[in-house]
Amino acid sequence: MSLTLDEIQNFKGKYPSQIWSLFFSEMWERFCFYGMRGMLVFFMISQLNFHEKEANLQYGATQAFVYAFTFIGGLFADKILGFRKSLFWGGLLMIAGSLILATDPHKFFFLGIAFTVVGTGFFKPNISSMVGQLYKPNDSRADAGFSLFYAGINLGALLGGYLCIAIGKGEILGSLIPEAMRWNVAFGLASVVMVISLINFIFTQKRMGTIGLQPGHPLAEVKTAPIPKWKEYSVYVLSLIFVPIIMKMVAKTEYTDYFMWTIGPLTLIYLFYEMSKVTASERKKLWAALVFIIFSIIFWGIYEQSGGSLSIFAAKNLNKDLLGLDPNGVNNSGGAFFIIFLAPLIGLLWIWLNKRKIEPNTIIKFGLGFIFLGLGYYILFATRLFANLQGITSLNFFTVALLVITLGELCLSPIGLSIMTKLSTKNLQGMMMGMWFLASAYGQYVAGIIGAGLATAKEGSTNYDALITYTDGYKQLGLYAVIAGVVLILISPFVKKLMQEVK
Ligand code: GLN
Repeated sequence: MSLTLDEIQNFKGKYPSQIWSLFFSEMWERFCFYGMRGMLVFFMISQLNFHEKEANLQYGATQAFVYAFTFIGGLFADKILGFRKSLFWGGLLMIAGSLILATDPHKFFFLGIAFTVVGTGFFKPNISSMVGQLYKPNDSRADAGFSLFYAGINLGALLGGYLCIAIGKGEILGSLIPEAMRWNVAFGLASVVMVISLINFIFTQKRMGTIGLQPGHPLAEVKTAPIPKWKEYSVYVLSLIFVPIIMKMVAKTEYTDYFMWTIGPLTLIYLFYEMSKVTASERKKLWAALVFIIFSIIFWGIYEQSGGSLSIFAAKNLNKDLLGLDPNGVNNSGGAFFIIFLAPLIGLLWIWLNKRKIEPNTIIKFGLGFIFLGLGYYILFATRLFANLQGITSLNFFTVALLVITLGELCLSPIGLSIMTKLSTKNLQGMMMGMWFLASAYGQYVAGIIGAGLATAKEGSTNYDALITYTDGYKQLGLYAVIAGVVLILISPFVKKLMQEVK
């Protein structure tokens, strides 16, 4: 018997039981996504003979497009498909993308990537919006739920990020898989886990009541009329038409700049148009959502140094004093590792604080997120105090910075997902979630620019010079993060007014 929305949302205990199913679908999706992402640069350089700079630019373009497409995926979910069909369609496109890559990654590289970009756009924002609908609008347990969900994201990221590239390089299963087939198997693994994600979702659906069945919110006052089939099929066709376009745009990275300069303003104009149609109180909440979205660009711009300048810093300037681990491995997966353990704990901490009526509201949590981020970057700066004359410093100390940065991420990223579902009007949930991720696309973009600015070490400069240049840059970023955090806390009364009853 199908559950009613009330039965789902009136759950007892700390988490709704459905969250575990969404946790696993998202975990496998992130396995596929981070598995592929982790292989891109290495594959382009070692297999497609790209120059390092070119490969990095292409990687950046892919990331920007992936997150930019979440806006479109969310928009179509709101207007035509509903969350479930969007998620399913996105999953199928991701499977198609990884199967294409598994067949012949050398020949069909950009085609496979383009499918993955569009697929992720349909999958990623909509599964997060469904988590939000497991809760009543003001259920104080939602942040804890999103924190748990975030642990699933990172479990997938950690496993996929580690396993796929290790198989491709032959570091694991090397004796079983002939060398010529390793990359095919690695990309193939991404498609297998995505199939698991969708099968898991098929079973999950049975316990989701009416959530995500139709566009719009199951509690919306005005129900959307059934959507004609031709509209649904048009979305499928349209998204397929996007594939060759994305393929061209990712392959030529100049287009990324044009794209980034256009998509943001266009989405803002569209948001303002939608805002003109809602009540004054709903409009205020959307303004508040926009404040969070804009601050998140700053956050990700600083945070995402991990894939760029910090990976160079890890390679050049860190020793192996942490259990003999490889510094780049720690830089790539340390954050996810910490999150898997810390996210559920921090979620429970929010619930505990709430019971005592001292849980900080979302703005303060965001502010704390920035302050932790800033502290983390100051610790990165301080790594220079432990450096030897060759400019090599302590991985242990670097890992402490990673831990503090991760605490910042946990105060902002899952909380951001949660607040989007609370501040969006019932018919704009998917689109606003898409905007939240679009901000990540800009964050990645800004991070690339900041990273390039940091890499100013001149020809012939020593490792020690590089250490000084990078750590000076991190001190600067730490300062910006702390300033952003303080500004957020200062403007909190104003944002609180916009948020009204939402916490
Ligand atoms: N790491 C998180 C994820 O993969 C957050 C991504 C983001 O918003 N930039 O979902």
